Amino acid sequence: MTRALELQQTFGEDVIRLDEAYVKKRSRDYYWYSPVLKKQLDGYAGDCVAIPRDEEELAAILSFAVRHRIPLVPKGGGTGNYGQIIPLHGGIVLDTMKLNTVKRIDDGAGTFGAGITLGKLTRILKGSGQELRFFPSTYMKSTLAGFIAGGTGGIGSIEYGTLWDEGNVLELTIMTMEEKPKRLDVRGKEELAKYIHNYGLSGVIIDATIALAPKTDWQDLLAEFDDWRDALVFSEQMAKKETVRKRLISVCEAPLSASFQPLRPVLSGDKHTVLIQAAPSHVEEIHQSGLSCGARWIDGFQAFTASKRLRATDFSWNHVTLWRLKDHPDDTYIQARFHPDTYEVQMQELSRSFPGEVLMHVEWIKSGGHIVPSSQPVIRYTTDERLFAIMDHCRRTGVRVSNPHTFLLEEGGKDDWIDHICQAKRENDPYSLLNPGKTKRMEVAEHV
Ligand SMILES: Cc1cc2nc3c(=O)[nH]c(=O)nc-3n(C[C@H](O)[C@H](O)[C@H](O)COP(=O)(O)OP(=O)(O)OC[C@H]3O[C@@H](n4cnc5c(N)ncnc54)[C@H](O)[C@@H]3O)c2cc1C
Repeated sequence: MTRALELQQTFGEDVIRLDEAYVKKRSRDYYWYSPVLKKQLDGYAGDCVAIPRDEEELAAILSFAVRHRIPLVPKGGGTGNYGQIIPLHGGIVLDTMKLNTVKRIDDGAGTFGAGITLGKLTRILKGSGQELRFFPSTYMKSTLAGFIAGGTGGIGSIEYGTLWDEGNVLELTIMTMEEKPKRLDVRGKEELAKYIHNYGLSGVIIDATIALAPKTDWQDLLAEFDDWRDALVFSEQMAKKETVRKRLISVCEAPLSASFQPLRPVLSGDKHTVLIQAAPSHVEEIHQSGLSCGARWIDGFQAFTASKRLRATDFSWNHVTLWRLKDHPDDTYIQARFHPDTYEVQMQELSRSFPGEVLMHVEWIKSGGHIVPSSQPVIRYTTDERLFAIMDHCRRTGVRVSNPHTFLLEEGGKDDWIDHICQAKRENDPYSLLNPGKTKRMEVAEHV
């Protein structure tokens, strides 16, 4: 009898799924955004999917896996972009979807089970007059723990920064990957950093306590610009104006918005766009500032999205790339951090060096207390060499690049805490069974 079958007989068919099509589907994320990862990761899958119904069942599954030295990859909504949940060495895909309870909601903070989706959380929080401080554009599907262990920031990051910024993630409960799994309560910036954007390598998150924001009735605004520079200048002005409350300023170079298929009735398609979510009391000020910078506001944009049951956030962050890929399946993207003072010149230079191959997309966020243009330019892909040449060119001209074309944590450019993560992995996962192969810093154990 195979171990997977033994696992199923121990925990039941509802908890351990072995059907091949199901297991394959649950072993994938959005790695195919990258033509490089697509070639490298197509075909990898786990041997089974485990869906524990509670913490005790989770502990028993981890214990089984450790006793038999079976690798295990925790999974949330499976919306990661870097093949984070793809098992490189088979084993168990741990689906956390049923670990989704609300433990506590206070004024300004709440504790929730790992697998709760951010979409469900948003609905629940409405009842307490609160909302998430920030969330990825995939929030309807992505889970709280998946965001913490795989994401960075999103809508709201212009006010609250990213997952690493103090005061956003307040506490995590971690289950260790040991024969007798332990529960660890983790607090404080350095300790928490061992589990933020760690690809699940150093422990399984079971609960997370996060800070919450008071609920705001955000208004959606969309403007078109003939001139790219005008779009940038206006977006920067609004991003940096502290008195204007907003949670999203997303800027797309033409013709990216031409791929926003549901918005085609209201968009020209050949213009640069600025999408803003702002507090109602600041809408008029934004409107007037936009007009003085050459904006053509899309009248009734909020009513249009409401009538079509669209979410404006679906046209921001990495959803911009997703719309583009629907029209141009060969395109891809990079993650670039342009210098806040010289970004315009750097962008011009990049576009000049690779004409027609780079289309700018900027999300204004707060980083280290400063408002900066975080960018996910869309790239017209031809070869891996050319893609890497574009990233190298960025680095040479002072643009920092987070490489989204690698499944290795330390090569993705968000690895400031990699040593801390590896230290926690050694302590919590002595047989190196959690998501093996996702860092070269630690060898894949022979038993794996
Ligand atoms: C269209 C699109 C738009 C996106 N926009 C954004 C964005 O705005 N901001 C952003 O940051 N990201 C974005 N992403 C990336 C991704 O959607 C987010 O990071 C998302 O929050 C990941 O959550 P998930 O539940 O889908 O995680 P998964 O993809 O399921 O997992 C992500 C990582 O977390 C680990 N993990 C999952 N659960 C646990 C657990 N309980 N314990 C330990 N480790 C765990 C997994 O092993 C994996 O390594 C986008 C992706 C796409 C495709």
